[in-house]
Amino acid sequence: MVAQGRALAAAPTDASPGRRLNPMPYVITEPCIDVKDGSCVDACPVDCIKTTPDHRMYYIDPDRCIDCNACRHVCPVDAIYSSWELPEGQEEYEQINADFFKTVPAAAQR
Ligand code: SF4
Ligand code: SF4
Repeated sequence: MVAQGRALAAAPTDASPGRRLNPMPYVITEPCIDVKDGSCVDACPVDCIKTTPDHRMYYIDPDRCIDCNACRHVCPVDAIYSSWELPEGQEEYEQINADFFKTVPAAAQR
């Protein structure tokens, strides 16, 4: 309940188009590597979880994630966390997820 309260308290109220609504996106971490079964992709209502055939894991687009928590419950290896609760040693994955969307062209993302 504390987690939900923090997320709501931090959410901006300006819902103008193009503005990022979620300051605490979800992040896919190391356990996804070489598992990559795609269960989270099917659960995501905004289709913001992507990869390519050459990448060993999936990534969440921090600018499109709406913080709904749907993906987390279907992951068989517990790889998905809200960005503010990343396990120790997994913090770098917040940047890794974001970098995927900065460096891989949208047309190549699957
Ligand atoms: S929290 Fe919701 S919107 Fe964000 S990646 Fe998971 S399923 Fe998609
Ligand atoms: S459900 Fe978990 S293991 Fe499967 S692709 Fe998503 S993050 Fe990776």
